Parts: sequence; C-alpha cells; structure tokens
Amino acid sequence: MRVGIASLDDNQRVALWESAMELSPAQRAITILAAHLPTVPFDALQRWTLVGRDHALLLAYRSQFGEGIQVEGRCQACDTKTQLAFTVSDLLESSSDTLKAAVYCIGSRDESGNQYKHQHTQASLVDTDVYVPSYYLIAFSGNEYRFRLPTTQDLVLIQASSSSSNNSGGITTKHVCERLLDQASFNDLCAVFADKHSQGSATERTKNEREQQDKGLESEEQKAWTSTLDALEQEMLRIEPLTIVSLNASCPECGAQTQHQFDIGHQYWALLAADVEKQLWDVHILATAYGWSSDAILSMSPARRRQHIAMVIS
Ligand SMILES: [Zn+2]
Repeated sequence: MRVGIASLDDNQRVALWESAMELSPAQRAITILAAHLPTVPFDALQRWTLVGRDHALLLAYRSQFGEGIQVEGRCQACDTKTQLAFTVSDLLESSSDTLKAAVYCIGSRDESGNQYKHQHTQASLVDTDVYVPSYYLIAFSGNEYRFRLPTTQDLVLIQASSSSSNNSGGITTKHVCERLLDQASFNDLCAVFADKHSQGSATERTKNEREQQDKGLESEEQKAWTSTLDALEQEMLRIEPLTIVSLNASCPECGAQTQHQFDIGHQYWALLAADVEKQLWDVHILATAYGWSSDAILSMSPARRRQHIAMVIS
C-alpha cells in the first residue's frame, strides 16, 4: 500500500506532543507514526518491523524538520562535547535495496529533472508493504531455519514479560528466539539443544541447572540460545543495515573516535518538544493579551502570529 507521509500543522504537533508525552519510547514512536500516517491502523503500525518503523520515522522527520540532523555527544576519552551533523538521505542511503525502492519522493526533482539535495522539508510516498515482516532463512550446522525481523509488538511483549514479577530472571534469550523463529524452526532447535545437552535424568538436569543459575552461571542450553540470538542479530543487520545506526564522532580536542548509536525516535521527539515549547509560548503571550483560544492561535499564519506578538511585546 502506498501512503503519503506529510508534515503536521502547529495544532497537530501540539496534540501529538500532548498525547505521546507520558508514553514509553516504543509506544511514542508508534504514536508519532500514527499522526503522520492517519490512514494506517494503529495495530498495523505495531506489527511493522522495528527497522520499518525507524525508516518511516526518518521520512516523517524529513517531512517535518527537513534533511539536517545534528546530534551532540561526548568524547569517551576526554568528555569534550562532540557534534555530529548528517542528513536523513545519508541514513536512507545505508538502508537495504528493498527499503530504498519503497520510497517515492513527491516534488523531489527540479525542472530539469535533477534530484534536489538537502532541500528543506520533503513529503514522501512510501510502499508500507516492505514494513510487514517476512521470513528469511538462516543455517545452523547445515540445517535451515526460518526467522523474521522483530516488531514493536515483540518489543512490547518482551518488555512486559521481563517486568512481570513471576519472571524474576527476566526474559530469556530463548523467549526472544521463540518470537523471531517460526514455530517449526523453534521446535526443531529446541529438540537439537535438548538432545545435545541431555545428561542424566531430567530431574537431575533441572537440579544442575538450578544450581548453575543460583551461581549466576549459564546452562549449556542457555548458551546455545544466546549464540543463536547473536547469529540472528548479525543476519538481521546484514539483511537490513538500518537496523542499527552507528556513527563515529572524532573529538575536536584529543582526536579520539567515539561511536554513537543514533535513535530517530528520540531525535524526532527532542525536536518536537523544543518546537512545541515555542508554540506554547506564543499561545501564552497571545491568549493573555487577546483572550484567543489556543486552537485559534496555532491555526494562525506564522506571519500574522509574529505580527501580533511584536505588537504585544513592543
Ligand atoms: Zn576527546
């Protein structure tokens, strides 16, 4: 399905900020997308892959705030502030061919057909079918298994079960593998690992594992699931490089390199919060002076709003 991702007006941005303020980062990211993609049902957004979600957030960011992204970090060697500047297009360029082919820009070319570079804001058309998870094959010891990329729904379930009291050890890597592998592949791997590590009777084994857990040691089976998850994660990154966006900043003081992990949901929210704060100051000034409603002030053209504010504070 092709849908447009366009910018939000002042009223919509304030409404989005208000509705997403109290949410977890995962739910907030989906709420931002729902505002930019009103025709896509909320639960469909939650079933998108996390990388699909971040890809759509990049397009939403570009439509709202433009190409430029600036991130501040700290040097790991000397703690000096470092600045990283890059563009949405840079990041989209690092995505898989599948994601690249899914974006159709609106008004992205000039009259002679040249692509605009680093233009202000840009609305996009995107084929959201590429955000729906599909299965890939991965081989372990000569056998093939089917897995998919993680979704927001996975994240929510994993967070819920790791915080529930009846699971004090938190979510195990086995549970994460169970969600990402298809049922048959998961069952096959369960059988392989149980075979490999079965020594003595079942009760004896459980007792040994308990003792190991008490000592904080991983059982052989747990180790097998951990290495399975590591392999899945590496394969995910190969299939979809946008899964993790790592950026290197060189320190202006000591020259050391520091790696930053970039989170588009966090970046979008920081800019939205700063923007909304400005909007609310305008509302405060004009509502106090004229008694106009917040809605009326936010709907006003920027030129008229600035003129009124100039009159009030002169
Ligand atoms: Zn430094």
